[in-house]
Amino acid sequence: MKTLIPVLGDQLSFDLSSLDGAAPADAVVLMMEVADETTYVRHHRKKIAYILSAMRHHAAALVQAGWHVDYVRLDDPDNAGSFTGEVARAIARHAPDRIVVTEAGEWRVAAMIDAWETLFGLPVDIRADTRFVASHADFETWAATRKELTMEWFYRAMRARTGLLMDGAKPAGDRWNFDKENRKPAKADLLMPRPLSFPPDAITQEVLSLVADRFAVHPGSLDDFDYAVTAADAARQADAFFAHALPQFGDYEDAMLTGERFLWHSILSPYINSGLLDPLDLCRRAEAEYRAGRAPLNSVEGYVRQILGWREYMRGIYWREGPTYVDRNFLDHHRPLPAFYWTGETDMHCLAEAIGQTLATAHAHHIQRLMVTGNFALLIGADPKAVHEWYLEVYVDAYEWVELPNTLGMSQFGDGGLLGSKPYISSGAYIDRMSDYCRRCRYDVKQRTGPDACPFNALYWDFLARHRDKLGENRRLAMPYRTWAKQSKEAQAATRRQAATFLDHLDAGGDAGY
Ligand SMILES: Cc1cc2nc3c(=O)[nH]c(=O)nc-3n(C[C@H](O)[C@H](O)[C@H](O)COP(=O)(O)OP(=O)(O)OC[C@H]3O[C@@H](n4cnc5c(N)ncnc54)[C@H](O)[C@@H]3O)c2cc1C
Ligand code: SF4
Repeated sequence: MKTLIPVLGDQLSFDLSSLDGAAPADAVVLMMEVADETTYVRHHRKKIAYILSAMRHHAAALVQAGWHVDYVRLDDPDNAGSFTGEVARAIARHAPDRIVVTEAGEWRVAAMIDAWETLFGLPVDIRADTRFVASHADFETWAATRKELTMEWFYRAMRARTGLLMDGAKPAGDRWNFDKENRKPAKADLLMPRPLSFPPDAITQEVLSLVADRFAVHPGSLDDFDYAVTAADAARQADAFFAHALPQFGDYEDAMLTGERFLWHSILSPYINSGLLDPLDLCRRAEAEYRAGRAPLNSVEGYVRQILGWREYMRGIYWREGPTYVDRNFLDHHRPLPAFYWTGETDMHCLAEAIGQTLATAHAHHIQRLMVTGNFALLIGADPKAVHEWYLEVYVDAYEWVELPNTLGMSQFGDGGLLGSKPYISSGAYIDRMSDYCRRCRYDVKQRTGPDACPFNALYWDFLARHRDKLGENRRLAMPYRTWAKQSKEAQAATRRQAATFLDHLDAGGDAGY
């Protein structure tokens, strides 16, 4: 029986369920570079280059391992431009008896695959993506027992199930979560680890020229491309992380520093999400570092929680909430994102840093995404769908199943608190505590009103005042609402005038200023 096995751009793993049990002699692996996938949002050019180059390298590795790979390039003149169009062409070329495919990572592509059996009149075996620790059924079973879908409880269930960082039935160190220890600000440090740099080989060079040619209007720079594009190089970056950065990962997880793009983060998410690295394997390696006494528990637990907890949980929420999750807009926010999200040109230093490095590298770390760009977008009342599209566009690790719940849910409170018990908002004080940004900014983080006041300050209080109807009863916001209530009517009015003036300038196309 001849089997056609379409392998998608985020399925670059040898232990893929669709390859499981297939005999290379009776199978054709189909890999497709298609225009629809590169343009349904205007992906950062480095993101497109990363995915295409990693796909081409993976195809070569599959061939080396004995698979017959039919690879359709973006510049093939007959390219149909869509997965369905390319599967149709491949059926005409290979006359398979059936299709076997690992389930897609997002609703849009899943709907396409669901239609193939009827469309092509062939049996289509859609297999679970076993690279995740929790199956859809596992998540449903867990969610069915809970009144609220709090990540922490899911995470503990996953720890118990996998045995990761467990001493028998108890969590290692007798605590499940060391997050409170992981909030230290960082100082510039000459010994700070740097991610490895992988200079482009001939395949990547060819992809870079193709992307420069075809995607000139997409955001982001192609300069200094140095992502790993093979499983072996991604593994080298993982080795470097475990050897040099994991011990400090926890302490400085939330820190931000001018000019320091990576700090002690792993920079492994693009490789995990596209399939070059296995998430559970990384968690086990982190645990081994702790057990061997080479990394402290707060770092290792923090790292494991991000992958075994947050990553798996986000996927569960994405599939559970369905294809209309993307349309939720609990706070009724409709402002477009300011133009400087595509240029980085703003006087607000924190935003200029986070956006500037995003456009340069297609990466920013979690706290920059959550408490700088996300926080600002939420405070100004940006349309959560527009914010979601921006994050999906600009980050090299962005696939809808993980990006959407992080952005629309966690960062923009678009789902009204399904994911987080309160909106992630802060005034400038938080950014000042966790970074050196404010010391280098033209605004004064200590002022709330006046021409030099940090815009985050008035926007923060204005947000709370504006949304009193929806958020006033939220227990976790009781303290800021009490603080606001204690302020004089004049002070409140001045704060709200300051915010309104700022938002008027923003709407008129200004980056800031009053
Ligand atoms: C608004 C917003 C959008 C985001 N969009 C994405 C996205 O599109 N793709 C993505 O992979 N992550 C996303 N994240 C989560 C997080 O910012 C990135 O996973 C992280 O910055 C990747 O860099 P790293 O590999 O150095 O991570 P590290 O800081 O080293 O963390 C270790 C690993 O944990 C996982 N992880 C950490 N936080 C999360 C999280 N909240 N959700 C899922 N996995 C997590 C990642 O696999 C990461 O590699 C988003 C966060 C926010 C606030
Ligand atoms: S002062 Fe305000 S705008 Fe400037 S860096 Fe600090 S938080 Fe950002």
